[in-house]
Amino acid sequence: MTRPPPFRRVLIANRGEIAVRILRTLHDLGIEGIVVHHAVDAGSPAVRLADRAIEITGRSPVAAYLDARQIVAAATTAGAEAIHPGYGFLSENADFARMVEAAGIAFVGPTVDAIELMGDKIRARAFVAKHGFPVAPSAIEDDDPKSFVARAREVGFPLLIKPSAGGGGKGMRVVRDPSTLSDEIVRARSEGERYFGDGRLYVEKYIEQPRHIEVQVLGDAHGNVAHLFERECSVQRRFQKIVEETPSPALDDAQRKAICERAAGIARAANYRNAGTIEFIYGKGEFYFLEMNTRLQVEHPVTEMVTGIDLVREQLRVAAGEKLGFAQHDVRVSGHAIEFRLYAESPARSFTPTTGKALALRWPDGSGVRIDSGIVQGQPITSAFDPMLAKLIVHGGDRTEAIARADAALSRFALLGCETNATFLRRLVNHASFAAGEIHTGFLDANPELAAEPPPSPATVTRLLAAAALSTRSVRDAADAIPSLHAAIGGWRN
Ligand code: ADP
Repeated sequence: MTRPPPFRRVLIANRGEIAVRILRTLHDLGIEGIVVHHAVDAGSPAVRLADRAIEITGRSPVAAYLDARQIVAAATTAGAEAIHPGYGFLSENADFARMVEAAGIAFVGPTVDAIELMGDKIRARAFVAKHGFPVAPSAIEDDDPKSFVARAREVGFPLLIKPSAGGGGKGMRVVRDPSTLSDEIVRARSEGERYFGDGRLYVEKYIEQPRHIEVQVLGDAHGNVAHLFERECSVQRRFQKIVEETPSPALDDAQRKAICERAAGIARAANYRNAGTIEFIYGKGEFYFLEMNTRLQVEHPVTEMVTGIDLVREQLRVAAGEKLGFAQHDVRVSGHAIEFRLYAESPARSFTPTTGKALALRWPDGSGVRIDSGIVQGQPITSAFDPMLAKLIVHGGDRTEAIARADAALSRFALLGCETNATFLRRLVNHASFAAGEIHTGFLDANPELAAEPPPSPATVTRLLAAAALSTRSVRDAADAIPSLHAAIGGWRN
């Protein structure tokens, strides 16, 4: 028996690939999908695919997508019964969730209480520790600002300074030399103020060469919580993920069971409703809680590929007050999936963002390949938003097959008109340590040669020169004159 859709009309308060991805599930379920968009996104795939697109304005494009009042007004006007916030922007903003619910619209996310608890890293750590789950040794400035530096020293070196209001790996600093601690605290504080408008800090013991392992959980309003196993996201630059996979090559079955059950326990203790991710740092056989993200995660597709569960569909059901569509014992993992974030950036120039225009675009296909993209040919690629353009997700019977499919897919991907990290990703999947699953969060720093663009081969140089020559008028004119020469020598061909 097919269930009725949980809602008739849902507004997506987001853009890019995630708006497209959410629209896909809405349409599968027979739900009308509405997007809000800034004028710069008027030609974007999300706007083209949506049943209705409502323009929003702002001092900058990002400001428009952060304008809660305007978005809720658009949802009310359009008669949307629910708002899906995607990730980033307003997805973890408790005031937004409150405003949505006050307008009589369902927020496709957790309760306001859960967002507030987990959104405050210090409160979240204390909550998790109180429920018997490990956190890394730490010192928290707010506990007693005057003794903060002394307490930080007691944590021991190396240590990591983190902004209390942090996110996206921004504003964190590793301190190895005790004599630099005070200066680094001053720097971290000013970065925290700049990025988050909040200079409060805490320090944590820095775990050397750790792995980032996280667990996907789902909870409903009836007290049911299930986990959908783990993802490993250890390939990072500047504490930000680039490649994510599941299962983690680092864990055996007993460790996997332990960490996944621990994560489900945290979600249960928080009475958690919605999809959520519990992040851990894993080093020397120990797991330490990092944070809980109370939203859909960028890397959720790898979990969908191995479990066959549509996370957006489950989010919608739960937001409509329904029970989870499955029980823990129904969740089975099949094969291996890896996601690659395709960024407009230059790995050789310290991964700085690039801009341009998608003049030509070719997506790979083939079995086990999924593309979640937010761009189309002809679209300008500006610095107005996060530089992630799309995600390439591959699935294989095992990790070796997934890697082979990734290599093939990356070789078939082409975007002309803007530099991307695609060739870098291809070098990465062909690296012996990556193939062996020997990765950690410092892997790219330890292998800087991966980021360097090798010089083009002589054959490529010849082709490029020929293409460049043909694109200039005088050479084209000369080439156009050639057929008459052929005519002069008649029909002879060798
Ligand atoms: P954010 O919220 O800014 O993303 P997190 O606390 O989630 O910050 O950490 C992001 C990344 O920083 C982790 O994936 C890991 O690479 C690194 N990291 C965080 N805490 C530690 C730690 N105690 N030791 C070593 N690396 C850490």
